[in-house]
Amino acid sequence: MPINVKVMNRPVEQVSYIRATLSGMANTFRHFVSGRRHEVTTQYPEEKEAISRRWRGTHRMLTTETGKAKCVACGLCPTVCPANCIKLVPGEDEDGNRYPLVFEIDEFRCIFCGYCQEVCPEEAIHVGRHYENAEYSREGFVYDLERLTAQTHPVCEMWDPADPLGE
Ligand code: SF4
Ligand code: SF4
Repeated sequence: MPINVKVMNRPVEQVSYIRATLSGMANTFRHFVSGRRHEVTTQYPEEKEAISRRWRGTHRMLTTETGKAKCVACGLCPTVCPANCIKLVPGEDEDGNRYPLVFEIDEFRCIFCGYCQEVCPEEAIHVGRHYENAEYSREGFVYDLERLTAQTHPVCEMWDPADPLGE
């Protein structure tokens, strides 16, 4: 949906706001007595609105068929992360395959830009279509590898220049 911009000119001289206040009150009163019922309240959490396919929320680490994290500890996502909220300690097995010894994301510091998902060569780490991740402590927002792989919510579909409106 295109965004319309309405330019408001600031008054150049000192003005009284009484007229605007009365106009606002009249508007409120009109809605109050008109009897029109335009309900916009969503009874969350019993009711939930559908969220965009491009919603960038709680991360999820995808796994291979054997249940191993797809991450190969390449180091790209902690490098691009503008919030510096990804902690990666890489390891290597006897065959020279890299894997994450430690992989943590601090969801509290994260700004949900989605760069980690975009840059990942293995399509391992994803931002997810999920937002119910409130916690009572800062530590609770740190998702380790086990927690990231245990997430089951759908993952975000990244912005596609061929389909800018996501239709
Ligand atoms: S979404 Fe952005 S800020 Fe959050 S972990 Fe990924 S790269 Fe960092
Ligand atoms: S970009 Fe992907 S493969 Fe590389 S460290 Fe991050 S999650 Fe692992």
